[in-house]
Amino acid sequence: MLHIDVKYTQILGSQLRNFAKKNDYLWNYSCPVCGDSTKNPRKARGFIYQFKQDLLVKCHKCGYSTNLGNLIKFVNSTLYDQYVVERYKNGATRYNAHKDIEQYISVVSPVDTNNIYLEDSILDELDRIDELPETHPAVQYVAKRLIPKDKWNLLYFCAKFKRYTNSISFKFTKEDDEHPRLIIPYFNSFGKVFAYQGRAFGKEEPKYYTIKIDDTEEKIYGLDRLDYSRRIYVVEGPLDSLFLPNTVAVSGSSFDTPTVRQLLTNATLVMDNEPRSKDIVKQLAKYIDKGYSVCMYPDTVKEKDINEMILSGKTPDQILELINTNTFKGIEAKLRFTKWRKCES
Ligand SMILES: [Zn+2]
Repeated sequence: MLHIDVKYTQILGSQLRNFAKKNDYLWNYSCPVCGDSTKNPRKARGFIYQFKQDLLVKCHKCGYSTNLGNLIKFVNSTLYDQYVVERYKNGATRYNAHKDIEQYISVVSPVDTNNIYLEDSILDELDRIDELPETHPAVQYVAKRLIPKDKWNLLYFCAKFKRYTNSISFKFTKEDDEHPRLIIPYFNSFGKVFAYQGRAFGKEEPKYYTIKIDDTEEKIYGLDRLDYSRRIYVVEGPLDSLFLPNTVAVSGSSFDTPTVRQLLTNATLVMDNEPRSKDIVKQLAKYIDKGYSVCMYPDTVKEKDINEMILSGKTPDQILELINTNTFKGIEAKLRFTKWRKCES
């Protein structure tokens, strides 16, 4: 039925705002269900994408997710009638809305977000770093840390962090001592923001605030851009993850989370290169026991994290090489670990 769905998507497209074809089986449009958006008419967060032999629909703003037929019905009931007849003629005996569409969506591979930048309405009032003038202090901060320019669209500037956070979920009883922060949004595979980190530009404490919007999601940064068929690097800091390909960040929490465990066979854990305290040694031993591939930097590496390595002149390729040649698992990791831990301080 795919060819019929494609045909009707094209017809329907003329009635959708900002309708654009992204690839053979992926279209983007402004969602008519939620209005997407009242503030910015250029926003387009509705997607039509392929699932098996059908096309499905998902809006990343309001969450409206259904099959193509229901969207056609919502926009144009006459067109819907034609669509049903045509599907019927082509052998569909029954055309119902998928009852358990969410179930389908959880098994379908994520919409290809590499080529489309997904936005969420909670980011509407923030300034995206790549859209600010180069003279802006936030842009200069990001540039100084040598964060690659093609990742600037993932970072935002917030002038009043506490007020902003309170507008989403009431976290601060007092909005005193306000200062701007760099916002690092955490997108799920569907481009919905489920958490964000607010990083201080200066010496303000704490250095990071992590605000969770959806408590059911794990605080893993970068899942929206992951290619599960390739090696996945798991680092600590979200900003560090921006320097390496196919990298997620656990943002300070344990590496051994349910999500990371699912990636186990394909993942390399890269802890920060911190002094070997009892705690770090214990954690690393645990990850090795659980079967993870872990990176153990040699003593010659002095920088404490990936951003520091970049700032000291290493290229992403050199860092990747360094990680890959110092990654071990199983028995090999245990042998290496025995030597490595001797430097315990
Ligand atoms: Zn919507």
